Amino acid sequence: MVDSSTPLGLSGTHSQLPFDPPLAAPAPELHEVGPVIGMALDTFPEIGSDHAIDGVAMSTFNPISGQAHLMYVSENLANLVGRPPADLLGRSPELLLSPRTPMQQLSAVAAVVESGQQAIVNLWLQHAEGHEVPVRASFLLVPSLPRQAPHFLALYRCLTPPAVEAARLSDQSDILDSLARGNELDEVIRQVADRISDQIPQAECWVGLADRAGTFELALAGKQPPETVLNVCRYLTESGPISTPRCVRFDDFPSPLSDELKQSGVHAVWSYPFAGSDRALKGLLIVAQGERSEPDPDENQMLVQLSRVVAVAVDRNAAEATLAHQALHDALTQLPNRALILDRLEQAVARLGRDKSCLAALLVDLNRFKALNDSRGAEVGDQVLLEVSRRLRGSVRLGDTVGRIGGDQFLVLCVAVNGEADAVAMAERIVSGLAEPIVLPDGDQLGVTASVGVVLIDRPGLSPSTIISNAESALGKAAETGGGSFALYEEAWQQKTVIRHEVEQALHVAISEEELLLHYQPIVEIATGRMVGSEALIRWDRPGHGVLPPADFIEIAEETGLIVPVGDWVIDEVCRQLAAWPVGPIGVAPFISVNLSARQLAEESLVSTVLAAMDRHGTRAKQLAFEVTESMRVEDIQTASVSLRKLAALGCKVAIDDFGIGYATLDYLRRFSMADTIKIDRSFVNGLGASREDTAIVTASIALASSLGLSVVAEGVETEAQYDALAELRCKFAQGYVLSPPVALEEAHHLWFVSRLIHR
Ligand code: C2E
Ligand code: MG
Ligand code: MG
Repeated sequence: MVDSSTPLGLSGTHSQLPFDPPLAAPAPELHEVGPVIGMALDTFPEIGSDHAIDGVAMSTFNPISGQAHLMYVSENLANLVGRPPADLLGRSPELLLSPRTPMQQLSAVAAVVESGQQAIVNLWLQHAEGHEVPVRASFLLVPSLPRQAPHFLALYRCLTPPAVEAARLSDQSDILDSLARGNELDEVIRQVADRISDQIPQAECWVGLADRAGTFELALAGKQPPETVLNVCRYLTESGPISTPRCVRFDDFPSPLSDELKQSGVHAVWSYPFAGSDRALKGLLIVAQGERSEPDPDENQMLVQLSRVVAVAVDRNAAEATLAHQALHDALTQLPNRALILDRLEQAVARLGRDKSCLAALLVDLNRFKALNDSRGAEVGDQVLLEVSRRLRGSVRLGDTVGRIGGDQFLVLCVAVNGEADAVAMAERIVSGLAEPIVLPDGDQLGVTASVGVVLIDRPGLSPSTIISNAESALGKAAETGGGSFALYEEAWQQKTVIRHEVEQALHVAISEEELLLHYQPIVEIATGRMVGSEALIRWDRPGHGVLPPADFIEIAEETGLIVPVGDWVIDEVCRQLAAWPVGPIGVAPFISVNLSARQLAEESLVSTVLAAMDRHGTRAKQLAFEVTESMRVEDIQTASVSLRKLAALGCKVAIDDFGIGYATLDYLRRFSMADTIKIDRSFVNGLGASREDTAIVTASIALASSLGLSVVAEGVETEAQYDALAELRCKFAQGYVLSPPVALEEAHHLWFVSRLIHR
């Protein structure tokens, strides 16, 4: 209930207007009031400038009794209310007003006026003959008066029917303006509700919004319990025509709704349904009326218009929601798109750490989807994607999110994951869910498999892009094992990935910056102890990192293809050095052995590269040896053997490096039949004498080589005992630390002059 005692002397219930006796002080004369009005008009010039004044009243306010009394009523005001001024003087100003003047409005006015400002409101004066006179009233605190008690001035301007309409239209244009400015639906509804309670006494506005299925959701329920308003909406749409306004008295509602309405002081409900641009019912604008069963025609017209305003706002709101949905969802599957799922990922990561649970991000990639799309057409491709998204949604738990982040890639976010086992179980579920054949509408069955990269996140801090790139690494691992599998990302990879990336970048410029160099490790004839040649072993003098061994960069060079230019450089450099190699004491020319990687051997241009380098530097073929390792992909063996055969035909030596390790040893001997040398891997040489197996392998390898007419180089000879054992086994050549480690060019030249590197 509103405070009943206000400076305007307006008590809470109009039915019990206070008729207090006049104050002891005599009412001021007109000549006293005139200057006051003048001062008021000076203070608030807009009152006088815009509006003709149709009536003036002044009241005193007794702060002790809390009552107000009219002390001056202008002649024209007395005419407006159809009473002589004498009837009014000394009585409460409420006597001037229609009982349907809203209390809230008057309290608000009182508060404004008390603060020394002007308040303007539309209200109704009550004519003695019963009819109401719409007026626009300005209330203000009288600036100063000879007497001490506060005085209030009320200036009334009649609102003729066109003026009433204009006021209404101006109110409505405020709302339309708000609509045009794109204010939120809630804000527009609130303005509409304010307008209704301003214009219609004893009225409260409710708004129920209907979804496509006709289910109501509350937008505004005023002071009512939401459930009551929803029940009213449901009853109104179920019990009668839904597209036209209707008025229902409280006692026409079924019990207990009728009782609830009665208890809340609702006499009748005026319902204005509104439809959207698609003509479907969008909701109800409801006026809960305290006393009247039906609105007057003006009110009805206003309510029809206001309900249309709400309809427009609802339509616009829905259009905005659709746009927002489209911006964040994939058009085909309706799943969250990349932007949205990454946003959800970021939020989920930020929430981590509150309990012990983790988050799992599963990157799902369909295997060979592009081929399927190309061969069967985009329509079939779309059907597959739809089915996959359906299955993914079906395999996650409540609270998890599935998004489509690329053509055939989906991201599944699983919250509340209890560690690795849980994430693995989810990945297994996804993989097996997708393994089932997809049945197309024409009955055709398609087998689609997926690889899944899983990242487990247990603490906040990681950015979505890092998580995605980790998931991509895991996906790569999963894809290596073929379709229909998953891999869990391991943190240690990250460090490796960063290093690899840096190495790759730096290696790109290593050749042009002349950072690569070769060391040479002598190869010695065991029987004489003399150096007969050397193996060129690459080094990288990487700025800031010192001289790096091949183990630090060859693998990366192979994976990135950089090994081809790097290898070409080695070939050229070796040819150049051979041409400049000094003649040694025994007058023979040494050979240099070059390691070739599988990737180089797979290049058809290898032979022409070698020929061009030989030509450039005038190198003789018999001084060149090429080493191939066993670790070569079977597919590449064909090209490799063609190249090696050509090189052998030119007169170059061909050696099978690291012989004995790997599983295809004997097969390689057959395939690389052009080879003239095997280099026994140092892991076997190492165990020579000490390990029975190693000794046996070395012995057998030498015997095998000799029966095939191949030379043998024992690699990694570290002790004289090993050297002696090899001599005893009639191994022809040796290479290893006991003779010399790989050395720089000048040192290699020096060793070439020394010639005998071991004396037995
Ligand atoms: P590899 O061809 O088997 O070369 C022999 C490796 O054994 C060399 O390692 C050498 O320093 C090392 N070694 C030699 N004697 C001993 C010894 O007595 N004990 C021990 N523990 N090790 C010994 P490095 O120079 O680190 O080269 C490693 C591998 O890198 C080479 O193995 C070769 O496969 C590859 N590589 C080196 N240079 C090139 C190149 O120019 N191109 C290609 N594609 N690969 C190269
Ligand atoms: Mg080698
Ligand atoms: Mg080797």
